Amino acid sequence: MYRLQQKVFRVHLYQREQITSGRSGFKGKGRSSLKKGIGLLQSEYSKISMKKAIYLDYAASTPIDKKVLEAMMPYMRRQYGNPSSTHSFGQKARAAIEQAREQAAHFLHCKADEVIFTSGATEANSLAIRGIARNFQFPISNFQSNPNDQIFKKLHIVTTAIEHESVLEPCRTLEKEGIAEVTYVKPQKDGIVLVEDIKNAIKPNTVLVSVMYANSEIGTIQPISEIGSMLKDYKLQTKNYKLVFHTDAVQAANFLDCNVDTLGADLLTLSGHKIYGPKGVGVLYRREGVGVLPLLEGGGQEMGLRSGTENVAAIVGMGAAVEGLENPRMMVTNIAIRQLRDKLIKAVLRKVPNSELSGSPDMRLANNAHFRFQGVEGRDIVIALDQKGIAVSTGSACSEK
Ligand code: PLP
Repeated sequence: MYRLQQKVFRVHLYQREQITSGRSGFKGKGRSSLKKGIGLLQSEYSKISMKKAIYLDYAASTPIDKKVLEAMMPYMRRQYGNPSSTHSFGQKARAAIEQAREQAAHFLHCKADEVIFTSGATEANSLAIRGIARNFQFPISNFQSNPNDQIFKKLHIVTTAIEHESVLEPCRTLEKEGIAEVTYVKPQKDGIVLVEDIKNAIKPNTVLVSVMYANSEIGTIQPISEIGSMLKDYKLQTKNYKLVFHTDAVQAANFLDCNVDTLGADLLTLSGHKIYGPKGVGVLYRREGVGVLPLLEGGGQEMGLRSGTENVAAIVGMGAAVEGLENPRMMVTNIAIRQLRDKLIKAVLRKVPNSELSGSPDMRLANNAHFRFQGVEGRDIVIALDQKGIAVSTGSACSEK
């Protein structure tokens, strides 16, 4: 299996494994042996520098964009104030966070106070799923006190069988805890989920529908705005206003429209390190009035939904990264990436016997090419290509562990 990523032929040095092998060849004690060892590593390093590598795994992580890094740097050194502090150091950090919130809100077409910064998409997905469930378990928010809402013995969640583990695991846990029953809707053969199947899965006690925007492994794009408008009609017809729609847009953000109104999403997840931003930061968009209870409690940061001193530099990086997605140059780049992807797909299918493309050829991310090769283990291909300096993956990095 093979995943074609953005800036596909970006070439960079390939150091890690080779240096490790250099180190294992180093024997001896004391200063002179240490010098010898360092010399050996240096000569190994210069050999490696000649060898180039091709990184084709942008679905796992992207490099940080230069502008993003520049925006972050002051907050890692000079501007170290705590954003909750009243003094000027604190207020500078606060202003930087609020600017990032505006940048994210601009990208999502929402209000700034609907943007919650988290430690990544995993936390954002957990907050969406467990936070909604907690809100129905412990009916204390305004949203739950809506007279149309009923209290159910067991909640029901509709999701799909192809979600990222950070959605599937909280769902499984809620099942194990006896809090919710979950329907995992299967996609069609082409990797696309039918709107009709989502609709048929809804029950009177359904409180959450969670469908990913684009799949992290085979790159198929789900009909999110169609699901959003189906749910809007369903809510109007049944007066079941408690139903919340969440989409994990982590893989889609680079390529697809993330206007939350067009999508009809009440909750939406983003991750920094998939969009040329830093690791360890994400966003949960929460539509005003949607009841979510926090998972982390403490100082009440992030509108009380995510306590803990904010990771200022990473949040600033997240803001710069989403702003970068709105640069018109991205559109041009994405067209070029799509062309490269198509070229690669054509070549692999023509040249490699018994190869097959997984998922819809049309409704897929511009940077994704995912293949099946009959009679060969995906892992063996990953290792063989890695030895040739080509980084690919069989699936989500977390499921490869
Ligand atoms: N959702 C999807 C679709 C992903 O691809 C990933 C990461 O691979 C995540 C969530 C988790 O993101 P993070 O690494 O920011 O926790």
